Amino acid sequence: MCSGRVDLAFVLRAFSNGLDGVFIGGCRLKECNYSTHGNYHALNMVLLCRKIMEHIGLNPERLRIEFMTSGEGILFAEVMSEFGNKVNKLGPLGKAEGIDQNELKSKLVEITKLVPYIKLVKNEKLASRLENPEEYDKLFTKDEIDRLFSEIISYYIDPEKCQACMTCAKRCPVEAVISAKNQIHVIDQEKCIKCGTCFEACPPKFGAVTKISGEPVPPPIPEEKRTIVRKSKEK
Ligand code: SF4
Ligand code: SF4
Repeated sequence: MCSGRVDLAFVLRAFSNGLDGVFIGGCRLKECNYSTHGNYHALNMVLLCRKIMEHIGLNPERLRIEFMTSGEGILFAEVMSEFGNKVNKLGPLGKAEGIDQNELKSKLVEITKLVPYIKLVKNEKLASRLENPEEYDKLFTKDEIDRLFSEIISYYIDPEKCQACMTCAKRCPVEAVISAKNQIHVIDQEKCIKCGTCFEACPPKFGAVTKISGEPVPPPIPEEKRTIVRKSKEK
């Protein structure tokens, strides 16, 4: 129903499935029937996605958003025909940009996994309502997007500090914490969406969750070494 529902992940998925271009049509800005004004969200998402495309070497012209009413059939036909011609001219996705197909696919898959994190970090800008098209290109800058990917935050549970209180596992929204009674907890980095909830939730007296920026996450402690031997039991 609403262009605001077109998630960044949908667009990235379309490209990782090999589509050469993506077009999003929304109602005219300021003419949304709902208080949500989802078309502004769609616009901001596209502006962000175009910068991400540039970051990975894809031509951002492959993604376009236009706003029009349902009565503007001729305009729609013209825009679609122009966009179709442009995408044809650009050629096959990746090939035209000189990017290896497998490399491109894995980059797109990696970035798709980061979508919840990206949306969290860029939350404020994604909620902007830009009135002037001249502001579009300034909403997200190249440096900002390069930094976004070079300073990605990860969360890691320090096995020396974890007391297996299970708070993080109960609060994690995607069940990314491998948890069991009296077992040092471990974050499954493949499942983690980097929301930071475990970091906030771990009791300060333990402070076991660490935030890591721009560095590789240490490997998880082996399963056979995860059992916590309490001091009273040692005696
Ligand atoms: S950062 Fe969020 S998703 Fe990742 S383990 Fe912690 S709570 Fe779960
Ligand atoms: S909240 Fe902290 S101490 Fe408790 S299980 Fe998670 S990491 Fe370990």
